[in-house]
Amino acid sequence: MIPYGRQAITEADIAAVTAVLRSDFLTQGPAVPRFEQAVAAYCGAAHGVAVNSATSALHLACLALGLGPGDWLWTSPNTFVASANCGRYCGARVDFVDIDPRTYNLDPAALATKLEAAERLGRLPKVVVPVHFAGQPCDLAAIAALARRFGFRVIEDASHAIGGRYQGEPIGNGRFSDITVFSFHPVKLITTGEGGLATTNDPALAARLARLRSHGISRDPAEMRGEILGEREAPWYYQQLELGFNYRLTDIQAALGYSQLQRLDDYVARRQRLAERYDRLLADLPLRLPYRDSAHLSALHLYPVQVPGDRRRVFDALRAAGIGVNVHYIPVHTQPDYARFGFLHGDFPVAEAYYERAISLPLYPLLTEPEQDQVVAALRDALA
Ligand SMILES: *Cc1c(COP(=O)(O)O)cnc(C)c1O
Repeated sequence: MIPYGRQAITEADIAAVTAVLRSDFLTQGPAVPRFEQAVAAYCGAAHGVAVNSATSALHLACLALGLGPGDWLWTSPNTFVASANCGRYCGARVDFVDIDPRTYNLDPAALATKLEAAERLGRLPKVVVPVHFAGQPCDLAAIAALARRFGFRVIEDASHAIGGRYQGEPIGNGRFSDITVFSFHPVKLITTGEGGLATTNDPALAARLARLRSHGISRDPAEMRGEILGEREAPWYYQQLELGFNYRLTDIQAALGYSQLQRLDDYVARRQRLAERYDRLLADLPLRLPYRDSAHLSALHLYPVQVPGDRRRVFDALRAAGIGVNVHYIPVHTQPDYARFGFLHGDFPVAEAYYERAISLPLYPLLTEPEQDQVVAALRDALA
């Protein structure tokens, strides 16, 4: 089976991981800060905070921005459930904004309309989470302009987008958002096994994210409040300043991530070549190919096509031919655990219509051209 996505592990990765296994620290050693600084530098952000998944990073980002009960978080329905669940972890309510039918990303025009209505009802969101679907950058400048006008904070869910560029600048540089979140799950652009990272330019947000990652505990005397036993300067002393979690990344994972990061640009370039090859090989078929434009660089996490007719039949034919296609995404508001908040089928018709015809074709750096030809031939047969 040719999978829809998979990791690329090199001997250098294995050497980096085994070096940590032979060292003094498996966690909370030097590898995590080195990885954090490298990702932040790559993105052009001031700070990076690594955690054990993008889901954890989204949760902490919401908490750090003060999201809580009574607040609203809005995101795209065309995403993995984690982009929405992070609001609910904080006790906030979640709502969605329909997607642009060309890019499949949250539509800034729909966002503006919904914000105007929400303002009249006094129900403006505190946080909006645009998702760079498939790696294609969202219209960040438009979203940032609305954030200034309506006073919400922006968390970019860039789980698909490390290595991509918006207006020529790296995703994650924080020019148009408060916090950007990356995922290092094995199907994503680079991997740490499981892992995630948040970038920000705000030192206070970075410190809060780092503290929440580790139980809400601080060892910095400058942050401490009062003194319990006059021990503030004692070497063993720490204070829990708020309720946090154990969302730490290990040094083993961070060493893998650092090693992978060295090849990120090569991987994105390889995805680019394979996607352009798909574009050419599929041009004569009755498919809608994924949107790309020259103003921005998609990291191309996914290559989602829109198929005509019976999607299930095409999907089954591809799977039967050994092509591990997948579907991204079941609109989040149609999940039973969201239906109980009153969402109905039909609430976000563009995302629903997109979903009903979507199939993601295999795309990953180690996909070979003969394998890609096999995918194209199987798709051609399935559509015949
Ligand atoms: C993968 C993914 C996540 C969650 O990432 P984890 O690292 O698995 O927690 C969140 N949002 C999107 C859009 C994703 O694709």
